[in-house]
Amino acid sequence: MVVLVTGANGQLGQALQSISGINPQITFVFCSSSGLDITNLQSCIAVFEKYQPDYCINAAAYTAVDKAESETDKANLINVIGARNIAEVCKKSNAVLLHISTDFVFDGTSITPYTEEDMPNPTGVYGKTKLDGEKAIQEIWNKYFIIRTSWVYSQFGNNFMKTMLRLASERTHLSVVNDQIGTPTNAVDLAEVLIKMIQFCQTTPIEVFGIYNFSNEGQCSWYDFAKKIFEINSIKIDLQPISSASYPTPAQRPAYSVLDKSKIKKAFGVAIKNWEESLKTVSFLI
Ligand code: NDP
Repeated sequence: MVVLVTGANGQLGQALQSISGINPQITFVFCSSSGLDITNLQSCIAVFEKYQPDYCINAAAYTAVDKAESETDKANLINVIGARNIAEVCKKSNAVLLHISTDFVFDGTSITPYTEEDMPNPTGVYGKTKLDGEKAIQEIWNKYFIIRTSWVYSQFGNNFMKTMLRLASERTHLSVVNDQIGTPTNAVDLAEVLIKMIQFCQTTPIEVFGIYNFSNEGQCSWYDFAKKIFEINSIKIDLQPISSASYPTPAQRPAYSVLDKSKIKKAFGVAIKNWEESLKTVSFLI
């Protein structure tokens, strides 16, 4: 079984690389952006013809939420055209597509966890391009899983946890917003669930394609997340909660983006760790 991973040097790509050794039944093909530019259809066709994947995990994306507000064309190219290209080549080679999307497709006005059936309404360019990417895939190919996740962190790449640890080494005090509520997701937990979904497809004839939510369990604000990162790493810092209004950013973020995971738990029998429990397994590796 061949699993091709795009965006292999990103957070999720590296998390997948880190667990590839414990899945010897899978032949992984890890493609970085230089090996496979998903915005180039010819390049996608050539790579798929060469490796003939049974599954493709599209971990490639434009993920700079604030920059996307001024780089709309680039965000569109990668998150919409790129997603479309990958769906086209998956269809051509009958490969199952596992595409990663985001909680930022929602506007954050809900007060209960978002289900897969809730109406998306992105508030920023990044969320809109990710939603358009989802739609492009759905128009092209029926063998897809779209996994919406949130607040991804890991020891790899750039993320909130690493930014907090860096800032703590440079400053004595820090202010972090406490009025955006969501759930952190350990990239390795996400990587593991993707592999579990692939293994399920291999062993079960039932077709369960569609949209699924995945994050760790529980919920918190970015302030709570920062507080826990410092607590686990025994870092003393003057940490203050602030409102989003007093920390303006180019992109407006959802005030609430907790994802309901009932569907993925039921369909694939996955047990999901609480975000604090999972954070402990990463922070000590830094
Ligand atoms: P990263 O930004 O860490 O990685 C994205 C990767 O995509 C990078 O390695 C980048 O390569 C690659 N890439 C960019 N453009 C192209 C291209 N044209 N062709 C091929 N590869 C390209 O993202 P994450 O791993 O954090 O995110 C994985 C997925 O999860 C994405 O779909 C993202 O939208 C989604 N997600 C992420 C969240 C988060 O908090 N990070 C939250 C919710 C969803 P290079 O560096 O060389 O440009």
